[in-house]
Amino acid sequence: MNPVYCDTHGNVFDLPGHDPAFRTGNRVVPVQGEELIPLPYGSLLFSMPGRYPVFYDGTTGELEIIDEVDHEQVWAASAFLSSGYLRTYLPASRLQEGAPSLPLWAYSGVVYQDGQFMVPALRIDEDPRSDPEIHENEKELKKAAGRLRKMYPENCLVRQLEHCATEYRCLCARNFFLSRYEAPVPTTPWCNARCAGCLSFQEEDGVHASQYRLQMVPTPEEIAEVMLHHARLVDESVLSFGQGCEGEPLLRAKDLSAAIEMVRDNTDRGTIHLNTNGSLPGELDRMIRAGLQSVRISLNSAGEKYYNAYYRPQGYSYGDVLQSIQLSLDSGLFVSLNLFFMPGFTDMESEVDALFTLLDGYPVHMIQTRNLNIDPDYYFDAIGFVEDTPLGIRTMLDMIKKEYPGITLGYYNPPREQFRT
Ligand code: SF4
Repeated sequence: MNPVYCDTHGNVFDLPGHDPAFRTGNRVVPVQGEELIPLPYGSLLFSMPGRYPVFYDGTTGELEIIDEVDHEQVWAASAFLSSGYLRTYLPASRLQEGAPSLPLWAYSGVVYQDGQFMVPALRIDEDPRSDPEIHENEKELKKAAGRLRKMYPENCLVRQLEHCATEYRCLCARNFFLSRYEAPVPTTPWCNARCAGCLSFQEEDGVHASQYRLQMVPTPEEIAEVMLHHARLVDESVLSFGQGCEGEPLLRAKDLSAAIEMVRDNTDRGTIHLNTNGSLPGELDRMIRAGLQSVRISLNSAGEKYYNAYYRPQGYSYGDVLQSIQLSLDSGLFVSLNLFFMPGFTDMESEVDALFTLLDGYPVHMIQTRNLNIDPDYYFDAIGFVEDTPLGIRTMLDMIKKEYPGITLGYYNPPREQFRT
């Protein structure tokens, strides 16, 4: 098993004579073979400019910061895993003085073994909806997008989704045009949080956002038209408010409730779902009374300190988020937590304790384990990270399975036909 690194052109090499290392929190640890799986199909390899790789010297076993190989400057290498996979360790690297923050991706460790790249990860959800194998269909997608453009020439949401599917390669938007699985229903340009890792909005001095925040504001009629199109055509479909390209949908709860009622006046097919920061329980209640069936509330931590440091709430509190979870449970919704995973932080003893305290008080039905797309150093600075003992991501998952056997661990919003409550 050899460590890998990149030259400054992004070419990836292995370095025999050294042993690889991984990172968890701010610790560097040896690589355990049992943690590794082959690099999943469709994953990407990234260089990490301004980060020197850290390996173990194959002879002395000492940790070594590698800044050059054959007199050529080198950078650390990482993998960005395909959807449905949860990384368990970060790449081991040392930040170069003054290096810029890395873009908003989930950087995973990677090594080279027996002719293939291996990564510390596990498949957490077998649902195929975002598997790269089923998204290699540009021609079919373009044809379908053209057909829907003709069917709904005035609908600005269909135009936005076409942009998302073709420009951003949003797999959810592609599934809408291909009439399968989950359809995204982005509706809201504004947000009442300022997440350090927001994919669609970043302050000028921050890291670069991965996609541009939605600018258009579809009417309830346009929203219902998109939802009805998908619900009528797709069995066990999911219709999801709250996408990466928008702000917080609860800020438009009145319009979204009107759209939900229009849909339910016409069909009972499909699962109406909301991805949200859970900030406005009163507005959530309005959507529940209109017919919402499933909700996913995002958290980077079950502890208020780190929650506030990451979300930077504008006019709401962590208490409001807990109230939204309770309201959803009391109203019989399928309730998921969208827990952002950062190795060495999420599996810290204190974070796991905080999570278990939340699960004891709020027996949710599912935890979606999401790799947090952010530069680890930028994240730890942003939240004022104070390290304590990491338990290990796999150990943490085993503890959840043992302590909360009724909770599903996964990655995607299930249709109601698959709810396990
Ligand atoms: S809640 Fe969502 S849209 Fe709002 S800042 Fe956070 S990530 Fe961005």
